[in-house]
Amino acid sequence: MSDIQLHYNNLSPYLLRKYGCRVFKICLDGGFTCPNRDGKKGVGGCIFCGERGAGEHLRPSSVSEQISAYFRRARKAEKFIAYFQNFTGTYAPIAELKEKYDEALSDPRICVLSVGTRPDCVDEEVCELLASYLPRADVWVELGLQTASNATAALCHRGYETEIFLNAVNLLKKYHLNVIVHIMLGLPNETEKDWIATAELVDSVKPFGVKIHSTYVIEGTQLERMYRRGEYTPLTVEAYAAGACKVLRHLSSDILVHKITGDAPKDRLIAPLWNADKNGILDALHEEMERENAYQGDLLIKNRPV
Ligand code: SF4
Repeated sequence: MSDIQLHYNNLSPYLLRKYGCRVFKICLDGGFTCPNRDGKKGVGGCIFCGERGAGEHLRPSSVSEQISAYFRRARKAEKFIAYFQNFTGTYAPIAELKEKYDEALSDPRICVLSVGTRPDCVDEEVCELLASYLPRADVWVELGLQTASNATAALCHRGYETEIFLNAVNLLKKYHLNVIVHIMLGLPNETEKDWIATAELVDSVKPFGVKIHSTYVIEGTQLERMYRRGEYTPLTVEAYAAGACKVLRHLSSDILVHKITGDAPKDRLIAPLWNADKNGILDALHEEMERENAYQGDLLIKNRPV
């Protein structure tokens, strides 16, 4: 299905409009760790997080080496997003952060610095540093909220309360940094009601963008142990498509959808296996939206008081 037919505000057309060309993402491992793993906030991490973090497919080397390696096999694009995907991209001394971000922006073809992090690792100093790059590039900060529910967050060992997320968004906005919020469907014990509550909370902070994906079980995680003990049942692709459709319908149409599928590493994915088939997920979602005649934000409009 082409972008023109999509029922949601997809990132690609936005990038084309804004930068005048196709823009590709370079996923980077900045060599960071996470306070939810190193003992500062917790140990073991979130129950769904694999040993290699969100960027399971990435292999650590210097930022420059990763970018050079990407350009050696570069596809035909003129501009790029440097995305610190793995673990907590603002969790290091400020001098180290600066060195890594500088390296990421050393090539003039990179037009966006994007940093994945936790809301409790965003403070004034980090925001000042990130904002210092704004004359040179756009800066996006990606917050792994996953759910608005503090009960689910506790069950998943997220390690911070949802209020912290709200504070972080306010701080990032104060520095004119673009906020992207990550949402996961299919976390333990959650139902469509929880997903809609998460969508409503996210919509209330009016982020620049969202990334939505299904929960999947990775080898070696706490979620794998729950799954093997029969304590966790993953979503079917149909349930995910219906849920993602519902979430989109509760998000304002000006919020950009950066992603609607996850990055499940095929070699370590335990379940559900449909997570490795991104095209299949997109087809299921697009069919659901067509069938329901659903559009991003349409339920917000219907529910809005007149
Ligand atoms: S906050 Fe992110 S990197 Fe840290 S344990 Fe959770 S999912 Fe993994």
